Amino acid sequence: MTNPFKLLGISDDVVNAVKDLGFENPTPIQEQAIPVLLEGNNDFVGLAQTGTGKTAAFGLPLLELIDFKSNKPQALILCPTRELCLQITSDIKNFSKNISGANVVAVYGGANIMQQLREIRNGVQIVVATPGRMLDIIGRKAIDFTNVKYVVLDEADEMLNMGFQEDINDILSTTPDDKKTWLFSATMPPEVRRIAKNYMDSPTELTMGTKNTGNVNIEHEYYVVRARDKYAALKRIVDFNPEIFAVVFCKTKMDTQDVAEHLIKDGYNADALHGDLSQQQRDKVMQRFRDRHMQLLIATDVAARGIDVNNVTHVINYSLPDEIESYTHRSGRTGRAGKTGISICIINSKEIGKIRQIERIIGKQFTKAELPTGFDVCEKQLFSLVHKVHNVEVNDNQIDQYIPRIMDEFAELSKEDVIKRFASLEFNRFLEYYKNAPDLNASADDRGERGERGERGERGPRRSSDGYTRLFINLGSVDDFTRGDLLSFVCNNGKIAGKNVGKIDLKGVYSFFEVEDASVDALFNNFKDIQFNNRGVRIEKSGDPAESRSGGGGRARSYSGGGGDRRSSGGGRREGGRREGGNGGGGFRDFSGRSREDRGGRSSGGNGGDRRRRS
Ligand code: AMP
Repeated sequence: MTNPFKLLGISDDVVNAVKDLGFENPTPIQEQAIPVLLEGNNDFVGLAQTGTGKTAAFGLPLLELIDFKSNKPQALILCPTRELCLQITSDIKNFSKNISGANVVAVYGGANIMQQLREIRNGVQIVVATPGRMLDIIGRKAIDFTNVKYVVLDEADEMLNMGFQEDINDILSTTPDDKKTWLFSATMPPEVRRIAKNYMDSPTELTMGTKNTGNVNIEHEYYVVRARDKYAALKRIVDFNPEIFAVVFCKTKMDTQDVAEHLIKDGYNADALHGDLSQQQRDKVMQRFRDRHMQLLIATDVAARGIDVNNVTHVINYSLPDEIESYTHRSGRTGRAGKTGISICIINSKEIGKIRQIERIIGKQFTKAELPTGFDVCEKQLFSLVHKVHNVEVNDNQIDQYIPRIMDEFAELSKEDVIKRFASLEFNRFLEYYKNAPDLNASADDRGERGERGERGERGPRRSSDGYTRLFINLGSVDDFTRGDLLSFVCNNGKIAGKNVGKIDLKGVYSFFEVEDASVDALFNNFKDIQFNNRGVRIEKSGDPAESRSGGGGRARSYSGGGGDRRSSGGGRREGGRREGGNGGGGFRDFSGRSREDRGGRSSGGNGGDRRRRS
């Protein structure tokens, strides 16, 4: 039988390479996109989620269209993050392993530029790049794009979210006018539409699934809990799914670290991934997650961009994202490569409206799920253990020598007694922990409940209120700041307490925040000669009425419920007392002995991509 990739028009060398990767049949996007792209004379827009086989959908046709006898760059692939850049490069190297003379280079920030320049000088046909570093290399006149025939913009929506629009313009202006542009995006906001309109000539459009629709393999669930019970709810969900392998999303770096630390302390195999970690630390965390030495990866949206780990069983939204579109990206971390996955939101009753908004945008309904009772969890864990005992691989060579002594020890017990005792070893621990476990599902009476305080933290009024002064600061989301980051930056440098800071209105290159009138002088006195990324940081009293007006109705703000919930609502709380040891579920190692220093201090390196910072 002819190989299905060959039927699509892929040559033997490449077909053999993908066969070696275990690709037997093309994914739907490959089936549809490959024949169109192979024609090589069309611009192209593909609306596709991550994990659908997108890289091969454009990578395989590229390999057919490139002249590998020439050593000049003929294809440029731009993508938002370092992780994705490395992933695409590795995939294309694998696809092209049988093509002699094929050279692919990865160009991304945070790595030695000299090595990248050397590889470019030696001759490459395919450049995979993040925009900032690419522009740097173009600025050094170290690359010649006059022979580029194809430009791929991968995860275009993410690149725009991350503020790369101008960089992309600048890069594309160095490529020939008659090149073909292939754009892939998980969502199609107006800005991406605009790119398609500005840079493309009657592109062929392919939509995998409905527009803005999440992956069909993903089920969406939400749990309603009191805000103060969020952490306990997270643990219960994890305990009820002993084989869970999940990414847990938090809104701020502080929450991410906080939740991860509590989970580690409580014996779970978890770690944090956020922009305060150095690149090396992030690589280490990711490697452990990829190798499945870790069960729960707690991450911010930015840090988790481009994560390509297969077999993630659950995505847990510990806090809902500010931008609804981020939900699609978050949930796309599961249900990859044809697998199924569950995307869970842990919300309080005031956030149900946001769930409805997400439903409208992704075109899928959420199921309202009930948190299992303590008894349900115990039962689930017990049978998971029984199943594991049944399936465990027995190493006869090693264990045989101990069997006589073990039999001796159990001589007086019946088979049933022995089984009971083994099962109880694990079961007792869960029973003990869950014996008085409360019902965590919030009732209708909890609407507007005091948990709202825990959700937002305790730092003052939500409105631009009396007794507060509104201040301008020349830092914002392009500096990788979340509201929580801005709050700590202002408090640390201005030496004022978090509770004296009111509403935070995070913008792109600047932001506004409120400070209690009584603390304003102290803030200005302390906030002197402050630098961020070699740039002077400025705060001023905001007197711009236009800005004050616009501060009230921003989409992100109204969605986020007003910013900066810096405190983990679950932080420090335990459900029914502290557990000893691990979570009993997956037999994963307990890393709780790991020191905090391991994860280290702040790096200005930021988000895993090479976002350029502008002021
Ligand atoms: P991507 O969307 O390109 O990130 O691909 C997601 C995952 O699916 C990657 O791990 C690929 O290796 C895998 N994959 C891509 N195409 C196929 C295929 N035709 N058959 C099996 N796995 C695939």
